[in-house]
Amino acid sequence: MTIHQNLIAGEWVGSDAIENINPSNTGDVVGQYARASVEDTKTAIAAAKAAFPAWSRSGILERHAILRKTADEILARKDELGRLLSREEGKTLAEGIGETVRAGQIFDFFAGECLRLAGETLPSVRPNIGVEITREPVGVVGIITPWNFPIAIPAWKIAPALCYGNTVVFKPAELVPGCSWAIVDILVRAGLPKGVLNLVMGKGSIVGQTMLDSPDVNAITFTGSTGTGRRVALASVEHNRKYQLEMGGKNPFVVLDDADLAVAVEATVNSAFFSTGQRCTASSRVIVTEGIHDRFVAAVGERLKSVVVDDALKAGTHIGPVVDQSQLKQDTDYIEIGQKEGARLAFGGELLKRDTPGFYLAPALFTEATNDMRISREEIFGPVAAVIRVKDYEEALSIANDTPFGLSSGIATTSLKHATHFKRNAEAGMVMVNLPTAGVDFHVPFGGRKGSSHGSREQGKYANEFYTTVKTAYTLA
Ligand code: NDP
Repeated sequence: MTIHQNLIAGEWVGSDAIENINPSNTGDVVGQYARASVEDTKTAIAAAKAAFPAWSRSGILERHAILRKTADEILARKDELGRLLSREEGKTLAEGIGETVRAGQIFDFFAGECLRLAGETLPSVRPNIGVEITREPVGVVGIITPWNFPIAIPAWKIAPALCYGNTVVFKPAELVPGCSWAIVDILVRAGLPKGVLNLVMGKGSIVGQTMLDSPDVNAITFTGSTGTGRRVALASVEHNRKYQLEMGGKNPFVVLDDADLAVAVEATVNSAFFSTGQRCTASSRVIVTEGIHDRFVAAVGERLKSVVVDDALKAGTHIGPVVDQSQLKQDTDYIEIGQKEGARLAFGGELLKRDTPGFYLAPALFTEATNDMRISREEIFGPVAAVIRVKDYEEALSIANDTPFGLSSGIATTSLKHATHFKRNAEAGMVMVNLPTAGVDFHVPFGGRKGSSHGSREQGKYANEFYTTVKTAYTLA
């Protein structure tokens, strides 16, 4: 099998490789992917540093053309890349293709942003002096991504980094290198000059840590766990560098007595279980007022009967496998913890056997949960959710906000009063009314509050806050 190599200083290199395994069928090897060493990573950082002066001054039309071509190729190959995504990560083919399309749209959006770079001119408060405010690239940007969105998250970090004139050292999660390799290959063929984008696949503790420790990485954008995010923060403070963190969530979905039951059930099943619950915006706390509680739980149980958990690539599959053995263990450990804590496992939670060996788990729904249980406080990151029964809207809102996280928050209601109040008072970066907590647009800001995020927002035009630095220039007329 050929090795998909790292891209360092414009050369494809690396002979030490690991296998990328399909979680729907552990006998299926998706490919061999190189692992960068500490030295490789240092070379990549040096290459990005050397490429920065020219790229930061490159014409906006050159950047536009490269990002545009990349978007076109990703969209033209959506079925093939979506299939690769589903094969390496385990989300369904429809979800894999959907995510791939989104990655194409993100490159398309930032291709456009290259042509919309803007500044401001203002009169000075002093006579005969002009003031110009411009945005300049930050320098070498380190990009560290998780396994759960193998093409969208790399896209929403790489596209703006390049658009605004930065050079990049990119480390994808070791578990899912396939889509990352593919988009780097596309970008290079689209005409990216040597050294502007460097791909260093490999272990976080080696490659990622070398990036954190380097004084030549001027900014780091990270998505992943809270623990690793903390490391990124501490190292970045040490080096006085800009950093941006997107981390965990424990997103609430509130269902009020006046909710449309069908809307509430669909949004809950989607939020909690689609993409195997492995979304930072997934909801794992469903907070339900007592007037609708029993009908709602019964309807969710009924809906789950028609949900098919199987091979991600099979037609008819609604939920693919868990990504790997260690995530599966984490999920089943929490199912055990929930039962020991006194919650009732109302549906699912059992390991499933399918035609191929994979990490299949039936979506698990707890009832009779309280908000102080570990299953209500800690991110599980699998198809496991807990229903918390409450008296009224006021109690629901208070429990929704009683969490260390603050990424996304949802409500099902037909009351304008409650929807409006919730939008204003939910302590989260994103609020959804009668919609799942997950599922966001690519052209508007993405990010959270409290323990979920740090730094400015990602995506849309708000991305320029992270990928640029502001300069204020004064000129005597
Ligand atoms: P990790 O934090 O383990 O990994 C994220 C990335 O960091 C990976 O590329 C990993 O490398 C790398 N990494 C690990 N150790 C270090 C280190 N010492 N220095 C630098 N980089 C390092 O998270 P997972 O990939 O396991 O993702 C799951 C978690 O991410 C979940 O808990 C979820 O909450 C969170 N998440 C949050 C999202 C959000 O937008 N808020 C989105 C997606 C996930 P490697 O894995 O190759 O070792």
